[in-house]
Amino acid sequence: MSKPSIFVTRALPGDPTPRLREVADVEIWPGDEPPPHGELVRRAADADALLTMLTDPIDDAVLDAGKRLRIVAQMAVGYDNVDVAAATERGILVTNTPGVLTETTADLAFALLLAAARRIVEGDRLTRTGGWKSWHPSFLLGQDVHGATLGIVGLGQIGLAVARRARGFDMRILYHDRTRHPQAEAELGAEYVSLDRLLGESDFVSLHVPLASQTRHLIGQRELSLMKPSAVLVNAARGAVVDQQALCAALKERRIAAAGLDVAEIEPIPVDDPLLTLDNVVVTPHIGSASVATRARMAEMAVESVLQALRGELPSNCVNAEAFSRRKQA
Ligand code: NAP
Repeated sequence: MSKPSIFVTRALPGDPTPRLREVADVEIWPGDEPPPHGELVRRAADADALLTMLTDPIDDAVLDAGKRLRIVAQMAVGYDNVDVAAATERGILVTNTPGVLTETTADLAFALLLAAARRIVEGDRLTRTGGWKSWHPSFLLGQDVHGATLGIVGLGQIGLAVARRARGFDMRILYHDRTRHPQAEAELGAEYVSLDRLLGESDFVSLHVPLASQTRHLIGQRELSLMKPSAVLVNAARGAVVDQQALCAALKERRIAAAGLDVAEIEPIPVDDPLLTLDNVVVTPHIGSASVATRARMAEMAVESVLQALRGELPSNCVNAEAFSRRKQA
């Protein structure tokens, strides 16, 4: 019997692929850029498993081509690039890598919060370009983080990890979620509030919901208008959770003080995007989980999911267990 085939859409950190090669033929896309969509479709046609990144659109065309496909193992916790319903219909398992990137992503979200609040990147730029003329009592005044109110939208794993950091800064924590979390309320003193109240009362708003139809443009013009003029918005979730055009206008007109963004509606954000002309925004290139140790753990977890699926087991991080029963019945 021939070995199963696995297509990995980018070279993996820590190279855990030898484990895959023991049981399968493995092809790794050599480029730093994602494989073009046509190439992904072509590779899916010969694959039993795809190990994918958040930049790979796994749509009908890919899933239709993948007649032998058993699993799409996404190396990310978010999987909004995967049409999960379409995969489930075809009995194809979809997995993600939750948990292992929580603390690393929370570190980055908090770094953005601090950088935007205390104008760190702006200060660095000024220092390098001769803008530091002298000490002045009104030079580069920002917002205090300690003792401020933090509103967390989506108190899941990363939202909770951000809340834990906020406790160290003596922050008051408000949260909004579709589910209440009584344990977090008790342990972190987090208060559950409506989204509108959170936006109106928070000095910092940090977004940690997945991107889905219900969360697309969750923060738009109306929501931004509810925020304080001194408020800072942090988005380390997904770009499209925020209406970026509305955000740009709010920042430009100083209707909110600043933003820290790890994600954009279009990634990479075009260099001529008007957002990048503003001083009161800090933008990082989607590096929330980008630490050496975490990326290696994510790769390992995605590899493990593939191995489980190829053994006919239900992978631990399956997001569509229904696909497993469908496959069993088929
Ligand atoms: P998680 O543990 O699943 O947390 C997501 C939270 O959002 C859950 O509490 C969930 O509620 C809540 N939620 C879902 N839909 C909602 C809605 N419509 N309204 C309000 N709350 C809603 O996921 P996580 O590990 O914290 O990750 C969160 C997101 O961060 C990921 O989906 C990903 O897109 C993003 N992320 C970005 C980076 C980066 O590099 N910047 C890295 C990692 C993750 P329930 O408990 O009811 O499901």
